[in-house]
Order: sequence, then C-alpha cells, then structure tokens
Amino acid sequence: MRNPVEGKNIIVIGSGIGGLSVGILLSILNFQVTIVEKNPLPGGVMRSYRRNGIDCPVGVHYVGALGKNEPLGIMFHALGIPVEELFVPMGEKGIIDRYIFDDLTFDLPTSIDALEDSLRNTFPQDKSALNVIMTNLREISGKMVDPSFLLSQGNPFQNMDYYLPMGELLDSLGTTASLRAVLAVPCNLIGVPLNDCPVIFHHMVLASYLFSSWRLKESGRKMTDIFVRRFEELEGKLILNDGVKKISIANGKVNGVILESDTILLSNGVVAAIHPKVLLKLLDKDVVRESHRRRIQGLQETEGVIAVQVQVDAAAHPVMNHNIYRLNRNENGVIRDGMFYQVQGTNSAGVNLLSIITKSLYSDWNQWKNTFTGRRGKDYEEKKMNIAKNLLIKAEEIFGNLSNAQILDVYTPLTIRDYVNAPEGACYGIMRSSRQLLKAISLNNLPIPGLCLAGQNAIAPGVMGCLFGAFNAVRQIIGADRFAREIKCDT
Ligand SMILES: Cc1cc2nc3c(=O)[nH]c(=O)nc-3n(C[C@H](O)[C@H](O)[C@H](O)COP(=O)(O)OP(=O)(O)OC[C@H]3O[C@@H](n4cnc5c(N)ncnc54)[C@H](O)[C@@H]3O)c2cc1C
Repeated sequence: MRNPVEGKNIIVIGSGIGGLSVGILLSILNFQVTIVEKNPLPGGVMRSYRRNGIDCPVGVHYVGALGKNEPLGIMFHALGIPVEELFVPMGEKGIIDRYIFDDLTFDLPTSIDALEDSLRNTFPQDKSALNVIMTNLREISGKMVDPSFLLSQGNPFQNMDYYLPMGELLDSLGTTASLRAVLAVPCNLIGVPLNDCPVIFHHMVLASYLFSSWRLKESGRKMTDIFVRRFEELEGKLILNDGVKKISIANGKVNGVILESDTILLSNGVVAAIHPKVLLKLLDKDVVRESHRRRIQGLQETEGVIAVQVQVDAAAHPVMNHNIYRLNRNENGVIRDGMFYQVQGTNSAGVNLLSIITKSLYSDWNQWKNTFTGRRGKDYEEKKMNIAKNLLIKAEEIFGNLSNAQILDVYTPLTIRDYVNAPEGACYGIMRSSRQLLKAISLNNLPIPGLCLAGQNAIAPGVMGCLFGAFNAVRQIIGADRFAREIKCDT
C-alpha cells in the first residue's frame, strides 16, 4: 500500500496478537475499527486453552525486551497494555535458558555483558570470532533501544552484512562447532535454521531476551482478555465466529469484506493479520498479478511442532524460573533436534504444568491432511499419544521420575493449521531466511490500495515481531508523516 487510507473505517482480519494490536493502535488514533475473527474465541495462538482446569499455553512461553525503555515495553506502553498485570521477570537465578547438549551445558544469562563473559570463558579458542559477534550484537541492540528505532521510516540497519546468514558469518570466522551450536538456539525462536538465518534477526531475538526476559503471570487467556478489554474500551468492535471469506474491491481499492455468514462490511481499508497465503484466497484472481501470487504461494513455511502438556506433582517438580532446551547437535555444530521444556505453576493446588515442545514435520501427519480437528480418528490419537509418551520418557532424563504425571493434551501441526488457518501448521509463519528475505519483505508492499498485512508474517514472528508488524501496518494506513507526529514511543 503506497498511500495513506482515506477515511476512518478499518476492518482487521484476525484477532491474534497482531490483529488486536493494530486494532488498539488505530482506535487510539480515532479510527472506527472492526476486528473479524473466524473462531468463537479471540486471541489466535496468544490464547491458552484449558484442560483439567489448567491453562495450557500455545504461543506465549516467554518474551524479551518488555522493560520500560526496551522495544516491546515501549510498544506495550503505546498500546496501553499493563506489563505488570500480565508478566513476571525471569532470570531470578541469573539464568534465562539452560541449553543441555551431550557434552556441554550452557546457561543463557540475563545481560549482554554476562553473555560475553560466559561465552569467552566457555569458548576461549573463539576469542577473535567473539570480538566480531559481540561488536555486532552490541551495535544491533544499541539501535533497538534508540528512541527513533520504532519510528524509523527507513531501514535502521544499513550494514548489508547483517542480512547474510549467521551460518555464513560463523564459517568465515572459523568458530568451533560448540559455539556454533550454542549460537544456533535463538534461531529456534523464529523458526529459521542458523545456516539461513539473517544475522539481523538472530541478533535482534537474542538481544531482546538479554535486555530482559518475561513469562506470563497467569495465562494466555488473561493476556487475550486484557488486549480485548483495551480494544473494546477504545470502542473497537469485535466480531467472533464469522470468518472473512472475501475481500471486496471497487474501483481498484479495497472497500470491505464479506463474511462466511454473507454479512457485508464496508470499510476504507483492510488490515489482514493472517497468513499471506490465506489472504490470497480471499482476493479475486484478477486482483493480484500472477507473478506476485506465485511468489506468495511459493514461500517456504517455518516448521511445525508437537507439544505435550503434562500435569506434574508440584512438590516433586517445582516451578523453574528458566527454560530448558535439551539439544542434539552433529560434529559441525548443526542442531539436529531438540526439546523445549518449561515448568510453570497452575491454579490447581499441588499441581504444576510441564510443557514439552519439539519439532514435528507437517509431512509426518500427511495421512490426516484432509481431516479436521476432533475428527481424525483413533490412529491419529494413538500416534500422538505414543509420541507424547516417548517425550515423557526422555523428559525423565532431566526431571527425574514422571510416573505420576498426567498427559493433559497433545497438539500437532494439524491442530495449529486448523485453529488459526496457518498453512502447514507453521509455528512462525513464513520462513524469514536470508534466501527468501526479499520475497518476504515484498509482502509489506501489497499492490492493492487500502490493503496491508500485519501479524507474524508482516515483519517478523513472535510477540515482538507482531508488535513491529502492527506499528508498521498503522504507519502504512496513516502515512509516515502522521505516524511520526502522533505515535508516542516514549515511556
Ligand atoms: C507453539 C508456539 C510457541 C510459541 N512460543 C512463543 C514464545 O514463547 N514467545 C513469542 O514471542 N512467540 C512465540 N510464538 C510465536 C507467536 O505466538 C506468534 O508469532 C504470534 O502469536 C502470531 O500472532 P498473529 O496475530 O500473527 O497470528 P495468530 O495468532 O495465528 O492469529 C491469526 C488469527 O486470524 C484468524 N483468522 C485466520 N483466517 C481468518 C479469516 N479468514 N477470517 C477471520 N479470522 C481469520 C485466526 O483464527 C487467528 O485467530 C509461538 C508460536 C507457537 C505456535
């Protein structure tokens, strides 16, 4: 979208954190905003779900940079979302994540300086490589806390080397395999393998958690409620249980949407906080050039996961203030597979929740590709449960005996696909790899007046990425000049 939208009436498709954040920001700017959600409940993957009275997380396990003068904290402040009501800081004992490899345990500490000390002590032979890596990390993190960062209309990072793959940089620096494996872990948080992960994304993700790391105080349900409450107190309107089936265009401009119920909603602009491949299906064929359509359809997705939610005895398995990654790497430092573990408290006395997440290919579930959640049959349930039980056995290597543990739920890439319309159940949407960076960036300039993209596919995935995407969508809608004048990014 090249010119600001004329008029005040905006429809946002999708009520994930991306859509709700756009809705709130535009409402603050006095737009009349309607968010349309296909599900009966808002929140997308930000929302948790209940099993046995316990809130099980989906898409918010921990976030970075929520401190007062840090990027996510500044954006939450601009939205009017109270950080203290929702989040608690991690790293009480100086650790955010523990990475456990067969031959090495590395603790991700709570600041850039502490990380540098720790890396230099653990990998003395990587001294000169660490000089380069730490200089880059400090430069990028310094830009992220510059007040102009969130308002910058151009690209704040002019150094083209930052767009090269992290793996290529490490090759050129001749790093040891062990350092390479440790540095590969943050790539998991955006779903791009180290070999193809642009330095800029790697460093931004890592820096954000080193600024400060946070966990939800209660649940993704509460987080969603607070976002919805803020949107509705600004007089935003939320339509649930009625997805958009078509975006209508008149005189070459977007002029509204048609819902599954055949309700027609007119508007001056539409923000699609959904996957771009889903967006394509909502547009008439002749609206998007064939080459553009093919480019979007050909985008590679990030991988899916299988997640197991396990009720554990709180006395035997207390809440851990840090996360654990159990990782397997090859001799070159490439991480072949791994498990993410988080133990958190619940509302039920004496019970904690252990969440286990690991990679699961969409193709592994091919047999059920044409089925829908809840109707996949016994074989699917059995396959899920067998994987879950094996994951529980592996988890015992870390947590000790889990024989009294109870599996509350298991979800697969198919669950995510069906719940939020994510092609291939991709956790982080399209892959923001160096290889398809240009194609991904071009999504931000949809050639249809009045239409723009938000959500995790616009700028970057994750809570922080979605907030960047929301700010960027609003900048497109009101124009860069008004954005710079009216969006207040101070705390
Ligand atoms: C398992 C998992 C773990 C994660 N862990 C973390 C983490 O710890 N920290 C972090 O920062 N990020 C994490 N993420 C990533 C983060 O959760 C996502 O990047 C973010 O929540 C995506 O928000 P979104 O608004 O783009 O999309 P979504 O949450 O997918 O929302 C899109 C919404 O659009 C709706 N929709 C789709 N099609 C239509 C239609 N046609 N009409 C109407 N509505 C429609 C969907 O139903 C959905 O509600 C995780 C993700 C997953 C899957």
